[in-house]
Amino acid sequence: MGFKKYGAKIDLFADLAGPRNRYFLLIFTPSNPRIMTNLSAFKAFMSSPRQVLIVTHYKPDADALGSSLGLYHYLKACGHQPQVITPSDYPSFLHWMPGNETVWIDGTDNQSRINEAFQKAAIIFCLDFSTLSRINNLGDKVRQSGAKKVLIDHHLEPEHFADFEQWDPASASTAGLVYEMIIEIGGRSKITADAANCLYAGLMTDTGGFRHSNTRREEFMIASDLVSLGANPSRVAKLIYDTNSLDRLRLTGYVLTEKLVVLPEYRTAYMTLSQEELKRFGSQTGDTEGLVNYGLSVKDIRLSVMIYERREEIKLSFRSIGNFSVNDLARKHFDGGGHKNAAGGSSKTTLEATVKKFLDLLPEYRDKLLADD
Ligand code: 5GP
Ligand code: MN
Repeated sequence: MGFKKYGAKIDLFADLAGPRNRYFLLIFTPSNPRIMTNLSAFKAFMSSPRQVLIVTHYKPDADALGSSLGLYHYLKACGHQPQVITPSDYPSFLHWMPGNETVWIDGTDNQSRINEAFQKAAIIFCLDFSTLSRINNLGDKVRQSGAKKVLIDHHLEPEHFADFEQWDPASASTAGLVYEMIIEIGGRSKITADAANCLYAGLMTDTGGFRHSNTRREEFMIASDLVSLGANPSRVAKLIYDTNSLDRLRLTGYVLTEKLVVLPEYRTAYMTLSQEELKRFGSQTGDTEGLVNYGLSVKDIRLSVMIYERREEIKLSFRSIGNFSVNDLARKHFDGGGHKNAAGGSSKTTLEATVKKFLDLLPEYRDKLLADD
């Protein structure tokens, strides 16, 4: 056992010395040492105060927003001038995150100050997405900007547009990769409690509360250190998972009772929601998040799909268990992608046509769906 990746930086953890923290020092040995490309150039660039933009994907989830605001607090503590910009709004159960009030939302916030921020930025961090198409109108702004670009992400098949990449598809969360980047550049002491809570939120949700198959020992080690830096696990869990509106809870009940279809012959479950149904439950951004997971909780089901009508398109959310790759399915047929066991996509046709397309694909995937692994 050796401190391969962190060996030279073990002094970072000097404040962890002592009997109470002996476990941390013994086990903090990642099995997959990997550092940012051009780390020393990155570190040198960040050694003076910079105007920084942080962008994340359309309809940010807790990992997208948590990694962005976690990085925001860290950079602020280092003396930089960071600004988070999102391509769209996000669920209200993320509004508690410290720094939420500083976020600019493209399309709703003053466009000229967003354009100005792109002009002034020395460096742009792109968090939790791997292709610029995931950030809608901001994609062209990032592509055309003369600023340095940093990609920190864990999605499959990235587009290589950045000067620096901290990319690892084995990592469960972008928040964890932000933490690792900070450790790599020797910045642990600048991780404030606000930063730790934001990063912990991303780590917790992208592992499904440390339950999904992407949960490695590293996720627990990072979580452990974030807690020692001030993250509060029960508070974050309560704020994210148990702060439902009554409408949202009733929508969940409706979907499970009326809309969940199970196809045992394909070990598949799916659910659909039309605009009319979403309106009936006063649905807000984020209210459908997580519903897809219920399909996978049915015994023997290994593919679950949620298909719902957004104002501008049909959105698909895929989850799988084991070797069945929803990344491949989403990429090939629904203009999407993601991870092997969690992916998303979209369709420009109707809800009915999208459901039909999905059902018509099942025979082609039958062998893979029924394979033991
Ligand atoms: P969700 O189903 O929770 O929206 O997304 C699951 C995973 O797939 C997330 O990692 C998300 O970033 C990714 N994802 C969701 N929608 C899309 C999409 O339209 N395109 C791509 N490339 N990835 C997506
Ligand atoms: Mn993520």
